Amino acid sequence: SDKRLRRLGAFNGNAQSGSLDLDLDLVVHSLESAIERDEFEVVYQPKVNCKTGDITGLEALLRWNSVNFDVGPAHFIPIAEEFGLINEIGRWVLKACCKQLKDWRAGGQILHPIAINVSTLQLEDPNFATMVGATLSEFGIDPALIEFELTEGAFGLQLEACMTQMQSVANLGCQWAIDDFGVGYSSLSRLHKLPISKLKIDKSFLDQLPHDVGAQNISNAIISMARSLSLSVVAEGVEDYGQLTGLDLSDLDDLQGYYCYRPMSASGMTEILSAPLKGKLRAS
Ligand code: C2E
Ligand code: MG
Ligand code: MG
Ligand code: MG
Repeated sequence: SDKRLRRLGAFNGNAQSGSLDLDLDLVVHSLESAIERDEFEVVYQPKVNCKTGDITGLEALLRWNSVNFDVGPAHFIPIAEEFGLINEIGRWVLKACCKQLKDWRAGGQILHPIAINVSTLQLEDPNFATMVGATLSEFGIDPALIEFELTEGAFGLQLEACMTQMQSVANLGCQWAIDDFGVGYSSLSRLHKLPISKLKIDKSFLDQLPHDVGAQNISNAIISMARSLSLSVVAEGVEDYGQLTGLDLSDLDDLQGYYCYRPMSASGMTEILSAPLKGKLRAS
């Protein structure tokens, strides 16, 4: 179909080639076996308090170490969604994060909440919240250490079903954040009904800072709206200090972006988490 071709075009970085469907089959087939081949990896990107620079949480970002493809989640996640693989992959990501928290706990590391991206398709599964609860119990993870991120405006026709799952997950004690906020169209009344505690300002606004006054006004409007709604607010995709000038930092909570930290492997993250302890030992 057209949709398939466009998607694979984006996937390959071009849209010509006569063997698109064949390639897509190979991609889907490879994705299907990626878990058993142990090709997935979760990398972690810290969020930091914008006043102190302290790490406040981590975002889990999926990587696919495929022998056949070099492709990021922005491309393979939509394919996983389209071909019915996202629930299994999502369960794998949650388990990987729980295992990691368990390892960090065993290693005496400071534990920060991990934010996991979920697709609304995962929320359409009536067992989602039950699965989350069972997985947290299996690994002995405090639900306060798991947060979920949902892209703004991603709800389809199953809005009520999704909201039910979100509420059940919130009742477990996990938090919800709205990702990529400001570029989708979620009505403010709906936003108010969702059990969310955080907004993440979309990177596209930050990209235009500090020069674009419109982007600056929108970013600050989101910050002040979040404040009025008692939601915390994160600026995503911050790459340099200049972008922050003109932002209302007094009401902004966290920063996330290459300016602070790039996404890193679990072992790289472990080193960073160990650093405060190392500093302390050196000082004594
Ligand atoms: P997202 O949730 O909005 O994640 C932020 C993306 O911005 C990540 O891209 C991150 O690597 C990138 N990023 C962070 N800081 C900067 C920066 O300063 N500059 C630039 N240029 N980029 C920055 P990534 O890892 O390629 O992920 C892309 C999207 O794929 C994510 O966007 C998320 O929507 C989705 N995704 C990733 N992992 C998962 C997953 O496990 N499950 C689901 N359902 N979606 C996922
Ligand atoms: Mg995210
Ligand atoms: Mg996202
Ligand atoms: Mg985002």
